Amino acid sequence: MRQYNPSQRILVTGGAGFLGSHLCERLIARGHDVLCVDNFFTGTKQNVAHLLGNPHFELMRHDVTFPLFVEVDQIYNLACPASPVHYQHDPVQTTKTSVHGAINMLGLAKRLGAKIFQASTSEVYGDPSVHPQPEAYWGHVNPIGLRSCYDEGKRCAETLFFDYHRQHQLQIKVARIFNTYGPRMHPNDGRVVSNFIVQALKGEDITIYGDGQQTRSFCYVSDLIDGILRLMATGADFTGPVNLGNPDEFTMRQLAELVIQITGSRSQLVFRPLPADDPRQRRPDIRLATDRLGWSPSVALRDGLQLTVAYFDRLLACASITPDEAHSG
Ligand code: NAD
Ligand code: UDP
Ligand code: UDP
Repeated sequence: MRQYNPSQRILVTGGAGFLGSHLCERLIARGHDVLCVDNFFTGTKQNVAHLLGNPHFELMRHDVTFPLFVEVDQIYNLACPASPVHYQHDPVQTTKTSVHGAINMLGLAKRLGAKIFQASTSEVYGDPSVHPQPEAYWGHVNPIGLRSCYDEGKRCAETLFFDYHRQHQLQIKVARIFNTYGPRMHPNDGRVVSNFIVQALKGEDITIYGDGQQTRSFCYVSDLIDGILRLMATGADFTGPVNLGNPDEFTMRQLAELVIQITGSRSQLVFRPLPADDPRQRRPDIRLATDRLGWSPSVALRDGLQLTVAYFDRLLACASITPDEAHSG
């Protein structure tokens, strides 16, 4: 692995979001100068408020679907809403963010000769017919469904990354990120971990979609950021795509029961219709990440949930304000 250079100027798009804010924090802690670019569609200034006074941190409001001319040494491209509720809110903008955003960031990387990371997703595998999913699996994706703006947008972004790599010799690093959770998830973003925790803490019904037998594998945010940083530190011969996620697989019913146990909540489980094209199962095959990055996650779901519950507990304790207003780092 290449030695990492502490003096780099690093652009993080989507840096005011859940994962982006943790990444900015870690990069600054390593001594880098970080330029955080975000249009605040799902991210908030609050997520990076604690970094604003730091001379190594700069925040810029910008939409990556428009060209961006800045001078940096590395780019992490994370800009894109990640929760189904948010990415389906304006699906055309979601595809534009993935595709035009990738073209602009790749154009920027090409002009600068900068190494560029892409936050791809397990959604490129769709509703997978191979389980667990290795990187060599091409996926099972509906091109015209409600999730397609995200799934196909991210697939096209991967195509663009590999074509810029082949055609313009760009140094690319593509990670396929599986469900990740932790502090600074948006309380109202509709993802299952934040939904269940907020519902449990408020004593509301816990909404299980479908019969709750569908599975996901949840990675705690600190593990994921470790994996991303290790990927970026690999030599030019390694591009990915590489799966980053926790291979421990749970049904949504098991997740709900664990959240109830940890919070001590008296919430009841209620069953709601399953959204269209909801993947039945998902678990990463992480052998490539283990071999090439020496990475595997270390935070068990119960431990990560405890940390996340503590975060949402503090958030909701701001009693006089709504979770939306209270959402903060
Ligand atoms: P998030 O919604 O918290 O963060 C996304 C950030 O991108 C937000 O701050 C948002 O305001 C910003 N953004 C959206 N559109 C933009 C645009 N056009 N221009 C500039 N900024 C824009 O979501 P997250 O969970 O932090 O996800 C970050 C990245 O990781 C996304 O690309 C997502 O697809 C990917 N990812 C996340 C997960 C996960 O489980 N969290 C899983 C797979 C992939
Ligand atoms: N671009 C950018 N910043 C730069 C260089 C390029 O935002 O510093 C954008 C620009 O909008 C361009 C896109 O990246 O359309 C792709 O750039 P590339 O050089 O690959 O293509 P071209 O400019 O030839 O279309
Ligand atoms: N889900 C659920 N209740 C909720 C929110 C989500 O049962 O309140 C389910 C959802 O149908 C899916 C799983 O939890 O099967 C994960 O959903 P999420 O939106 O977090 O992520 P993704 O589907 O993108 O993996």
